[in-house]
Amino acid sequence: MKTINWYPPVILGLLALLVVTFGALVVSRSDQEQTVTELKGAALKNSGQQTFEWKLVTTWPKNFPGLGSAPERFARKVDAMSNGRLKIKVFGAGELVPAMGVFGAVSSGAAQVGHGAAYYWKGKVPAAQFFTAVPFGLNAQEMNGWLHYGGGLKLWEELYAPFDLLPMAGGSTGVQMAGWFNKEINTVDDLKGLKMRIPGLGGEVLNRAGGTAVTIPGGELYTALQTGVIDATEWVGPYNDLAFGFHQIAKYYYYPGWHEPGSILEIIVNKTAFEKLPADLQAIVRTAARDANQDMLDEYTARNNRALKELVEEHGVELRKLPDDVIAHLKKINTQIMQQTAARDPQFNRIYRAFQEFESQVIPYHRISEEAYYKTRELGDR
Ligand code: CA
Repeated sequence: MKTINWYPPVILGLLALLVVTFGALVVSRSDQEQTVTELKGAALKNSGQQTFEWKLVTTWPKNFPGLGSAPERFARKVDAMSNGRLKIKVFGAGELVPAMGVFGAVSSGAAQVGHGAAYYWKGKVPAAQFFTAVPFGLNAQEMNGWLHYGGGLKLWEELYAPFDLLPMAGGSTGVQMAGWFNKEINTVDDLKGLKMRIPGLGGEVLNRAGGTAVTIPGGELYTALQTGVIDATEWVGPYNDLAFGFHQIAKYYYYPGWHEPGSILEIIVNKTAFEKLPADLQAIVRTAARDANQDMLDEYTARNNRALKELVEEHGVELRKLPDDVIAHLKKINTQIMQQTAARDPQFNRIYRAFQEFESQVIPYHRISEEAYYKTRELGDR
């Protein structure tokens, strides 16, 4: 039988291994954790996984329910999904730039992201209004369908490209309310001389109906209505309107929101900053935007009804429906405005045609699906 020949170098090697193993066992837990962190950091560095810090500016007061919670959620989700590699600090209206300065700040790169509504920028880009709401146009479900599966988002991206901006849907309010008034609206004559906060295309309709439309950011609305700077205002719906306290200074709450049947909010990203991100962080930004977009609609769907109950039952708000002939008058004016704007603005015209084409497909189908179901569930006893 052959005996094992323990050569001295092998014995020395085994002894060294024992020392190393024993040493590793007595290293404290925190040292181990620190080592792991250092190794992870080094691995991230070696793999080129840079970290990024972005600023997000919004048109809403900081942490305002619904609208203002979407950018916060977006930033939190991006942080969690990227494992902290993309940090986004959220600034409310007026903290870094005024509400109406969001487009310019993100376009210039002063901030990398913005959250607001495309129709606020109609003075710069009239066609941007399609990407918030068209009076008597698509509802929330249809807007999301048009943007994400009907070519709408591509048109929006083309529209914003010259401003170095990449737009994404960043929230959806559902059908809004027509607004808060201190006098009843019984005929079209009641709109004459009415000074009302109503942005976008809806505002243009009011102007042509004899009123005066103004665009005032949300945070300044209460004071404007209280001091008589405006006679009436629309904002969003019961959940958000209750938070602003409009019921304290206005008597009538009118519906439906003919001017904003399914408003989409926007997340705008500075394109240059976006293109500097690795592909996985770009995907995270897009995914977090889709999440914020759907989440807002879910929240409004759950909370608007309770808020309306509180407004009516606890605060004595008088709920009113706009008369059909007033609605028909506004609709007629809206069609004229859309056609006239399209005739003088090729960009507006191109998007208007695409929008109408989608409407012509989705409306007939929704007549026999969504609309038919709404009517069906009202039949018989519950
Ligand atoms: Ca509104």
